[in-house]
Amino acid sequence: MSYPEPTLFIGGRWRKTARGGPVVNPADGSVLATVPHAERTDLDEALAAAEKGFRVWRATDPDERERILVRAAANLMDRREEIAAGLVLDQGKTIREARNEVRVAHDRILWDAGEARRLYGRIVPAGPGMRKMVTRHPLGVVAAFSPWNYPLASPTRKVAGALAAGCSIILKAAEETPSGAVALVRAFQEAGVPDGVVNLVFGKPADISAHLIAQPAVRLVTFTGSVPVGKHLAALCGQHMKPAIMELGGSSPVIVWDDADADAAGALSARGKTRNAGQVCVAPTRFFVHASVHDRFLDSFAAATAALKVGTGPDPALEMGPLANQRRLAAMQALTADALQRGARLVCGGERLGDQGFLFAPTILADVPADARAMVEEPFGPLALVSRVESLDEAIAGANALEFGLAAYAFTDRAGVAARLADEIESGSLAINHYNSTYPDMPFGGVKDSGYGREGGAEGLDGYTFLKSVMQQTS
Ligand code: NAD
Repeated sequence: MSYPEPTLFIGGRWRKTARGGPVVNPADGSVLATVPHAERTDLDEALAAAEKGFRVWRATDPDERERILVRAAANLMDRREEIAAGLVLDQGKTIREARNEVRVAHDRILWDAGEARRLYGRIVPAGPGMRKMVTRHPLGVVAAFSPWNYPLASPTRKVAGALAAGCSIILKAAEETPSGAVALVRAFQEAGVPDGVVNLVFGKPADISAHLIAQPAVRLVTFTGSVPVGKHLAALCGQHMKPAIMELGGSSPVIVWDDADADAAGALSARGKTRNAGQVCVAPTRFFVHASVHDRFLDSFAAATAALKVGTGPDPALEMGPLANQRRLAAMQALTADALQRGARLVCGGERLGDQGFLFAPTILADVPADARAMVEEPFGPLALVSRVESLDEAIAGANALEFGLAAYAFTDRAGVAARLADEIESGSLAINHYNSTYPDMPFGGVKDSGYGREGGAEGLDGYTFLKSVMQQTS
């Protein structure tokens, strides 16, 4: 498999720069390519291009905007195999997951393309001689920062949302996994998006965000990543009065209730936990299982986890790949050691696999003390923590105990239990009897430290637009 050369895209042109950093293959630690780093002059050119692009794009008929988005989505699917191969190489996910990520990106663009046609305002009833209207307008240039775990699907939300709303965008994508963002931008370029509407940069994240957020031309900041970086960027946005969409981390609770099919929930949890090697902001992590089904659930979860086919490369039979970088491997080792040292029980996994690359065995820990680091921090890896609970109050208290509030899951068919969880769990989403918490047509985002703003759903373009109240006296 060959790896595409990462480049910047500014004002409708691809460009390299003198400086850059390595892109590492998590399968074996080898260097795949050099990702170019933007200099200050590149950023200023991107800003100028995006301002120009915005003037053209906001005046483009919504029909035409929709057509371009639809073409970009089709372009991604046309190159699905090539793009998926790039994601396997730089991010480490399995080929099945990579192909699925291309499909997800396609579906997200199509959803936003449709929403481009539905940016309605409203007429407010008014007395004679007065007309009152609320109209919706694109904010302007968006500065977007996307992470390394979903190198294609995550920036897709930002680029498609911005463009559907009529904004232009400067995307700073993840330096460690550039191929997905490059493929995305190429899909839009080839779909006919005017020059300057989409720009792509890589570089030193802190320098780029500090520079872009301070610029008057930037009217919105959108970030997906960790809570500490999100808080830092939100503070910068506050200084410069910039609105922001913050999609941050989570440590999602799973409540398995006494009526659940414990065998089926256990088997499903093995897949849910190890998706993208657990490097998912909505990954199920803290399992609160009713005492009456606890042992059966744990046995099934452990058996299905131990049976997963884990490895590296494009083998279509693989069910979990390596962690994306050395930091995640070190974090898994440290979190597991800390929990065991505090008295947790190792059910399966718990160690690095092989001595090349960043493979870590899918790991289940039981009876983990509440003060273990893994119970408090976001593991962002294939680490599951299973606790026995006796009452729903106890399960809900455990679920809500952290400052995270992104996703939550439950396994139950009891209407009363489901209703209480829907009312009382502090999270942006709740999936019952399955592990999918993101759909293009549902708003996605968090509460508490997991951030604010929504991507996707009927609300997905709200953040990219502002409302204007027009009150016209006619006589
Ligand atoms: P990190 O906190 O150093 O970085 C997180 C992301 O923010 C990276 O993509 C990084 O390039 C970017 N970033 C860092 N500093 C920045 C700055 N000043 N301006 C703009 N962008 C900046 O951690 P990491 O080791 O890369 O990732 C691990 C942690 O990040 C995980 O524990 C997880 O909590 C979080 N994460 C969350 C998501 C998500 O989908 N919410 C995705 C990836 C990572």
